[in-house]
Amino acid sequence: MAEILKMTQPLITAEAVSRSYLKGQHQVPVLRGVCLAAARGEFVSVIGQSGSGKSTLLHIMGLLDSPDVGEVLLAGSRIDNLNRAARDQLRNHVFGFIFQFYHLLPELSLLENVMTPLMIRHSIFGFLKRRREIRDAALSILQQVGLEHRLKHRPSELSGGEMQRGAIARALVGQPEILLADEPTGNLDADTGAGIMELLNRLNQDQGLTIIMVTHDNAIASQAHRTVQLVQGRIQAAGREITTDPQQRRTA
Ligand code: ADP
Ligand code: MG
Repeated sequence: MAEILKMTQPLITAEAVSRSYLKGQHQVPVLRGVCLAAARGEFVSVIGQSGSGKSTLLHIMGLLDSPDVGEVLLAGSRIDNLNRAARDQLRNHVFGFIFQFYHLLPELSLLENVMTPLMIRHSIFGFLKRRREIRDAALSILQQVGLEHRLKHRPSELSGGEMQRGAIARALVGQPEILLADEPTGNLDADTGAGIMELLNRLNQDQGLTIIMVTHDNAIASQAHRTVQLVQGRIQAAGREITTDPQQRRTA
């Protein structure tokens, strides 16, 4: 029974999540009972206009923010109410984040940027002991995203597409189960954006990485298995059938 549950249960779930922000004197609702679940290996996109709460939702699902009401579940267990240390652990081990503006650290080389999550994971002593292992992991993931020729470059010496590939490498170096992508192509030209989408699709198909991506761009959103829409603080199906067969998706 436990085995069956494991197979049918979503990997990550936002359950009736509400969140509002104080603007001046007023509490302004942003999310009003959002329900969103992704199965293991699924690539879900959430489309919504600017200001519709996409980033807020992603931050809550990745434990960067907390819901006012509702729950976040990982493989069926509630995680949003865990203590800070446990949430930090999950953020470092289970979730990888990528952002529209990459958020690479400007004073570090690309290789150092990608090593950062593993440096945080281990204590200073642990890091020194595992330095080579951590460097090799960062090198290997940078190879996978096609950046092995840019290791010593600072972010300012990279193109937008390279910075986003670097940010993807940093998000994946700790082998997370879930990648949360916030407008990952939002600052890139169409061709470079298409390259990033190809990379995300490859990671999803080849490695079974679960991806939740938010975007305001229909063409980008439609490259996921399934698209839902965030409207007035709630999720609705985006009104079209999307095949989950990767073969068909590629030619669609
Ligand atoms: P999106 O990512 O879809 O553009 P956001 O989730 O960033 O939308 O924001 C949704 C709404 O919540 C916006 O009106 C925004 O101004 C507001 N908001 C987001 N974060 C905060 C915050 N930390 N404090 C106050 N208001 C916020
Ligand atoms: Mg946003």
